[in-house]
Amino acid sequence: MEGIVVKSTGSWIIVRLEDGSKLDCKLKGQFRIHGIRHTNPVAIGDRVKVEGVKGGDHGVITHIRPRENYIIRKATKLSKASHIIAANLDHAYLVATLAQPRTSTGFIDRFLVTAAAYFIPAGIIFNKTDLYDRDLMKTLDELTGIYENAGYRCFRTSAIFGVGTDEIRERLKSRVSLFAGHSGAGKSALIRAIDPSLNLRIGEMSKAHQKGMHTTTFAEMYEIAGNGFIVDTPGIKEFGLIDLDKTEIHRCFPEMDRLLPLCQYKNCTHTHEPGCAVKSGIESGSVSLLRYNSYLSILNDS
Ligand code: GDP
Ligand code: ZN
Repeated sequence: MEGIVVKSTGSWIIVRLEDGSKLDCKLKGQFRIHGIRHTNPVAIGDRVKVEGVKGGDHGVITHIRPRENYIIRKATKLSKASHIIAANLDHAYLVATLAQPRTSTGFIDRFLVTAAAYFIPAGIIFNKTDLYDRDLMKTLDELTGIYENAGYRCFRTSAIFGVGTDEIRERLKSRVSLFAGHSGAGKSALIRAIDPSLNLRIGEMSKAHQKGMHTTTFAEMYEIAGNGFIVDTPGIKEFGLIDLDKTEIHRCFPEMDRLLPLCQYKNCTHTHEPGCAVKSGIESGSVSLLRYNSYLSILNDS
């Protein structure tokens, strides 16, 4: 049987089989040995082969298909090992807002860099637009201009009024889409607006977590009505940029990457080099200073 991993609790891996049913699975022993670098050898979104256990009510994962992509974070703050948050993602969306609690552009840019580093097309959903006054609307227009110029789709929603949510639902069809966001931006409300039947299941999940006093929250994949999957990432604030070299960060800013061939040096980092097309772009206004400053700040931290 073939299926897709929708949840992993450590001891059990839950696989959604092709007929839509779910099966609790264990991993065949040998995989554990190969999974040293990552703390989890099998991740949400993995496409797997499963064998039923004779007379048993669970399955065994015998094969994991090669991943098209994946997104990771450090297993723990100090550890070198990484934890795969999810694999085989078609899109990654950041649920952001300019109303309370306002999402900083620094946070948005870090998310976008992470997605770019793992070759996952990303978009930004600006939520709670019902609360924006005229000034915030102006800011929203400006940010939309900056991010769309960079190559990112921007969406506007009011999750509680159901505004803009049809468009999101349409985009999710037949795809696996990761949803991330600061707590309070409205990720749950948005998911609820997209598919009301999901609300119950997510609610049950968090209650179960509270009971078990788990401090770590796991990402989980939900099937949405009308085809498609959402990977919800509760409590995951930082996505790991651990595979990214300092000299590669600018490649994750598409508007800068496009200018690289015009820089005097082909390994230009757009910082101190003469004849830099990105720096000229900032002067002429084709590259946003906001984005460039985010780039410098990420460069500094890594
Ligand atoms: P999450 O932490 O990102 O999952 O955020 P929630 O979905 O729990 O929403 C946080 C708070 O913001 C709740 O009180 C929601 O009712 C509110 N909220 C979510 N979306 C909107 C919106 O579009 N407009 C307004 N005015 N409030 C919203
Ligand atoms: Zn340059």
